Amino acid sequence: MRLKDKVALITGASSGIGKEAALLFAKEGAEIVCVDVNDAAGKQTVAEIIALGGKAAYVHADISKAKDSENMVKFAEEKFGKLNVMFNNAGIMHSSDDDAINTDESIWDLTMNINAKGVFLGCKYGIPAMRRAGGGSIINTASFVAVMGAATPQIAYTASKGAVLAISRELAIVHAKENIRVNSLCPGPLHTELLMKFLNTDEKKNRRLVHLPMGRFGEAKEMAKAALFLASDDSSYVTASDFMVDGGLSAAYVTAE
Ligand code: NAD
Repeated sequence: MRLKDKVALITGASSGIGKEAALLFAKEGAEIVCVDVNDAAGKQTVAEIIALGGKAAYVHADISKAKDSENMVKFAEEKFGKLNVMFNNAGIMHSSDDDAINTDESIWDLTMNINAKGVFLGCKYGIPAMRRAGGGSIINTASFVAVMGAATPQIAYTASKGAVLAISRELAIVHAKENIRVNSLCPGPLHTELLMKFLNTDEKKNRRLVHLPMGRFGEAKEMAKAALFLASDDSSYVTASDFMVDGGLSAAYVTAE
């Protein structure tokens, strides 16, 4: 088991990547703190882990709020005694997010508060806990859009994910000698609720699919496996990376028919 005796906190554990990661990390031996604002679905994730013979607990936290972020870390230490892995994964993509001209300031603020400030706050409170645990691994979910321009605009989301790369890189360097690794996970477009709600017509979906070398969206389970690598000691010499898990999208100029 690759996460035996580890305690992992996962934000956005009610759905998509976070839920799949919670299930997979638990199967690999970790005790899981599931964090979300969707309490019913978060508790469902916990129930599924326990049914599989794992250990998990749910705590409500809006990651854009300092008090909630502080509390989720405190909860992890009180419930399971320490924090070894932090997967700052929760994020939103608002359907009114557009180009600079058409995106309302409120959408910008909301997106930046959750996607960028949420990661900052997770690290702010998670890193001291990892020091107390003698080290750890932080994985922050960014996106392929942080490194590529898209004609289908989502300016606030793109900016927020660029911030995640920058935050992660800097923290990785600052804390490298403390046995704390920090990496960004950059998923490609996924077959999850978040993206499918945004690409809500066949036309919009096909406009994305044409750029994907593999001709398909990725799956949340595939992101969970990549996150497991970053969480576990298998990646002991990997830090400050922008870990692209995008089916080759960011390397593609033109894809084969
Ligand atoms: P999802 O919508 O299935 O899950 C996101 C979860 O985050 C939800 O359970 C939601 O309730 C939770 N959440 C939202 N705001 C929150 C807040 N303020 N505090 C706590 N929890 C909150 O989405 P997903 O596809 O699993 O996305 C997970 C991460 O992956 C996000 O950061 C997203 O930006 C990123 N990502 C997704 C894709 C994709 O195509 N789906 C691609 C690249 C990156």
